[in-house]
Amino acid sequence: MAGDALDTAWAVRWIRAAADTVAEHRAELVNLDRAIGDGDHGENLDRGFTAAREKLDDEYAAPGAVLKMVAMTLMSKVGGAAGPLYGTAFLRAATSLGDGDASAEDVAAALAAARDGVVSRGKAEVGDATMVDAWTPAVDAAAQAAAGGATPAEVLAAAADAAQTGAESTDALQARKGRASYLGERSVGHRDPGAVSTVLLLRAAVDAATTADGSDEGPDA
Ligand code: ADP
Ligand code: MG
Repeated sequence: MAGDALDTAWAVRWIRAAADTVAEHRAELVNLDRAIGDGDHGENLDRGFTAAREKLDDEYAAPGAVLKMVAMTLMSKVGGAAGPLYGTAFLRAATSLGDGDASAEDVAAALAAARDGVVSRGKAEVGDATMVDAWTPAVDAAAQAAAGGATPAEVLAAAADAAQTGAESTDALQARKGRASYLGERSVGHRDPGAVSTVLLLRAAVDAATTADGSDEGPDA
């Protein structure tokens, strides 16, 4: 049921969907990063999520266990800024979720923990034109949705929508963290690749939450 807590099968579907969407958008992420960075963001994430997908057939006791595996995989397989940042995000989310299924409040808390991990690792603030500009509005929208009685899937959807708006906001911003900051004012007019990949990952979480358990696993099954 839609109101039910999100379980381990959801987390497995999420990471499979994340690997799919990152692969589909690999060129787009590369192009965004080529404009203001070194052009590796799509490759980095594709390598990391492809490696994580290969471990999804193992046994996991809870959603947090899946996310912890993702964290470890991203930290070991993905270089650059995004590997440690997303690795920290997934690890903090895993710790926040603990051993249980995820209620709406748990989802909101896990997103906040993930964002806090990115901020503590990268020291970027809202307005610096990084993935934090997607994460922070997502966290705020998720908290509001959960407080208003939304289901876990609705909390994720609110987060993904807000992240999209936040990612769009980076178009007009000058980058103040990461490689893009080396461009100074020339970074204005470009969307931050990490903010775009944050939206992709959150959308995958929504898709996984709105796909019924027990349905087939899609084209890659
Ligand atoms: P690199 O910049 O090392 O090539 P990637 O291209 O994989 O790494 O990732 C770039 C993305 O990482 C940026 O688009 C931005 O969203 C994010 N990023 C970089 N530095 C920071 C930081 N200090 N805080 C938050 N996010 C950051
Ligand atoms: Mg890069």
